[in-house]
Amino acid sequence: MRTAILIIVITSDHFGFTLYLKQPHPTSSMFPFYSYTRPNSLSVRIVFFLLVLVLMILPATGSSDSTKLTVAVVDVLRPNHTWTGLIDARKGTHVHGMADLKRYLRRFGYLSDQPPPENSNFTDSFDDEFERALISYQKKLGLPETGALDHATMRAIASPRCGVQDFDFHFDLAHGGGGKLKATTRRYAYFYGHPRWVRPPPVVLTYAFSPDNMIDYVSPLDLRAAFSRAFARWSDVIPVNFTEAEEYSAADIKIGWYRGDHGDGEVFDGVLGVLAHAFSPENGRLHMDAAERWAVDWKAEKSKVAVDLESVATHEIGHLLGLAHSSVKDAIMYPSLSPRTRKVELQVDDVEGIQALYGSNPNYRYDARVESDISSSSGRRRVGLGLGLGLILAAVAGGAFFS
Ligand SMILES: [Zn+2]
Ligand SMILES: [Zn+2]
Repeated sequence: MRTAILIIVITSDHFGFTLYLKQPHPTSSMFPFYSYTRPNSLSVRIVFFLLVLVLMILPATGSSDSTKLTVAVVDVLRPNHTWTGLIDARKGTHVHGMADLKRYLRRFGYLSDQPPPENSNFTDSFDDEFERALISYQKKLGLPETGALDHATMRAIASPRCGVQDFDFHFDLAHGGGGKLKATTRRYAYFYGHPRWVRPPPVVLTYAFSPDNMIDYVSPLDLRAAFSRAFARWSDVIPVNFTEAEEYSAADIKIGWYRGDHGDGEVFDGVLGVLAHAFSPENGRLHMDAAERWAVDWKAEKSKVAVDLESVATHEIGHLLGLAHSSVKDAIMYPSLSPRTRKVELQVDDVEGIQALYGSNPNYRYDARVESDISSSSGRRRVGLGLGLGLILAAVAGGAFFS
């Protein structure tokens, strides 16, 4: 059933802020894409103006997601049913499924897998070690550090994400962690030792797709174009260029789609969950989970679990270049990505992180979008800014309408 509710979306783009009416696209009913039209007719303008008035009296608490997504976002978390009893569990409790969560936190570097046998068989008890790991997870993911399995934390855990670990637990232990993970800064991060590609300038890295490990439902042209755009976003900001190699075996960067255990110790897990992984410099391997439904053309893709290929490619290239996961939610290097979500633009955090490793591309200039990110570190504040400008626009529109 199609909703008749019109939603006002305030978007920011290179040309400043614009008000649009958001309405379901007529060609799609189940997971509607939204088309954006400027209000023209008198009646629509009346509705539009009234809705702006409503927005004026609402607090600016909306999510920033609608300001930047170019495809509809469908909330299809894949909650593990054995975890549902864990919501709001706190230290000292004993809840079925806790051991699974401990394995999850160990998988991404928050709990030690050494020395056995202490942690080889996790129990279901919410103990001190689990609480410390959970707080580190919350800090890293930019969540409130409650130390409890609150809704936001469970939602983050249930979100599809990159398979690269958020921490190197052993490195942390060896560098003063003392069994407790160090506080991380809420920004970009590097792998242990800050590895980067060391080549004489001008640096050109070659990439190639595995002849034997590809997907066949995305056209090779679309697939190559998506990766080309993803590489270009990084080469725009650093003095490193990328070209596709003729020969796979000789390429610096090797890209392929793999299923399950594919021989590098990083097992893929089927639909959603872990989406992809890549290795730090100068390894060059970039692996996508072949079990995902990868999408480039969102007009044609209907699957509610489809994942934006270009977004994930951009993120994984960041790893190939030496960036680890960031705690900045809007950053490309944030570890998770919802299905049907497009997130391809480098943010200030990504740019600062990669330029600290490689220096700046001499042709790089902050554009208007990045400037707006500099002046506003949180999406919520950006929506607030949009509302502020919405007030001005409403005043102008109202003045024009009533004159
Ligand atoms: Zn990642
Ligand atoms: Zn792999």
